[in-house]
Amino acid sequence: MTVLSDRPVRLRFAPSPTGFFHVGSARTTLYNWCVARQMGGTFVLRIEDTDAERNKPEWTEGILSAMRWLGTEWDEGPYFQSERTALYAEAAARLHGAGKAYYCDCTREALEDRTGDPNQGYDGFCRTRGLTVGPGRALRFVTPDEGTTTVIDLIRGEPTFENALIEDFVIVRGNGAAMFLLANVVDDIDMRITHVIRGEEHLPNTPKALMLWDALDGGPEPVWAHVPVLVNERRQKLSKRRDKVALEMYREDGFLAESMRNYLMLLGWAPKEGPELQPFASLATQFRLEDVVPSPAFFDVVKLTAFNGDHIRLLPFDEFLDLCRPWINSDSVPWAKDRFDEDLFVALAPLVQERVSLLSEVPGYVDFLFTDEVAYDDTAWSKVMLKANVPALLGAVADAFGTCEWEPDALKEALEAAGVGVGVTKRQQVPVRVAVTGKQFGMPLYEPMALLGRDVVVGRIEAARACLA
Ligand code: GLU
Repeated sequence: MTVLSDRPVRLRFAPSPTGFFHVGSARTTLYNWCVARQMGGTFVLRIEDTDAERNKPEWTEGILSAMRWLGTEWDEGPYFQSERTALYAEAAARLHGAGKAYYCDCTREALEDRTGDPNQGYDGFCRTRGLTVGPGRALRFVTPDEGTTTVIDLIRGEPTFENALIEDFVIVRGNGAAMFLLANVVDDIDMRITHVIRGEEHLPNTPKALMLWDALDGGPEPVWAHVPVLVNERRQKLSKRRDKVALEMYREDGFLAESMRNYLMLLGWAPKEGPELQPFASLATQFRLEDVVPSPAFFDVVKLTAFNGDHIRLLPFDEFLDLCRPWINSDSVPWAKDRFDEDLFVALAPLVQERVSLLSEVPGYVDFLFTDEVAYDDTAWSKVMLKANVPALLGAVADAFGTCEWEPDALKEALEAAGVGVGVTKRQQVPVRVAVTGKQFGMPLYEPMALLGRDVVVGRIEAARACLA
């Protein structure tokens, strides 16, 4: 089994625009893109929009925008299956003409009456009835009653399916619309696809695809690679109702495209050289489809979040600043827009870059710089400020800050000395942090205090103390 092909290499990503762009689809896209690039092939984008009831143009837009964000630009397409229906009708007619498909008007109830089992597949009742095309009549493909069909899969080996268990499946619905499988196979043949990399959930369809491929004289079959399903921490398949699966949501939460790409590549594969965290260019070169493992891959949001923080740390500062822009310029920032101070932000952004895991956290790290009145976090206030010694500490610090030299080291020294003076020897800066920033956690305190200035800082400490009186 090999990834090599003696035909011009052509891969495709074939999403159905029925919802948000799933992280599993993003991983499939990346693998397809990498193999196309490695083999000097063509990467085709095909939108499988045959299900008119579930498809929406905005889902297609979402796919295109997600792929651009990931950097998996396509070389050809997007093709839309909704514009290619003539091709499917022609293939259906060909199969029917050759006796490889037949029209069927059985209802589900009629089938159940015959078999007595609601779970039983189609029994072939219409195979020999010679029905012609007509309203409400579906076209079924004649599957062999004996033998087996083997899928030769780069990741899964040679899963083999009993033909007798594969019913005569529908390829054209009663309303004349081509079913997913027919359109999918006709297009793969027509687009001369050499490698099909897709989710494991499609594996049960693949013997049917092979039968159709053969019946349509599709020529050499593609190299198949079914990539592992993604699961959550309870080993359950990711579900859009339960888990956060939309790539868009990660993007909106401030994940970087670079860390998303990096993390998604690792869901089923690991680089042989170097750490897990690597520039995408290096992963894309090292990636080997043959090395993808078949077992389910854990989509670990905690690890992804930590990964994102690590990637943020690696960004050149200017790039970090650029990536922060949409977040600090957004309409939902917690400060009045005219209070924003670019110089102050730029001066302190290196400290933010050291700490955030997500870009969406950036405004919350700097909001205290652009406000006249500190908004105290409730938990921080109750956990930190209501201790007996806090008013005395704040008083001593306000006094010390009234006269000390105004630069970070001197502030640190003054604060510590003031704490010791009132018997607070540990974590003296936490109440001061709450007074100045409103929060219990955040960037180091001394640099921003130095930049905010004596009047502002002392004013905030006094204000917090007044609240405690
Ligand atoms: N349209 C199918 C899906 O979105 C993909 C089919 C394929 O890759 O062959 O799941």
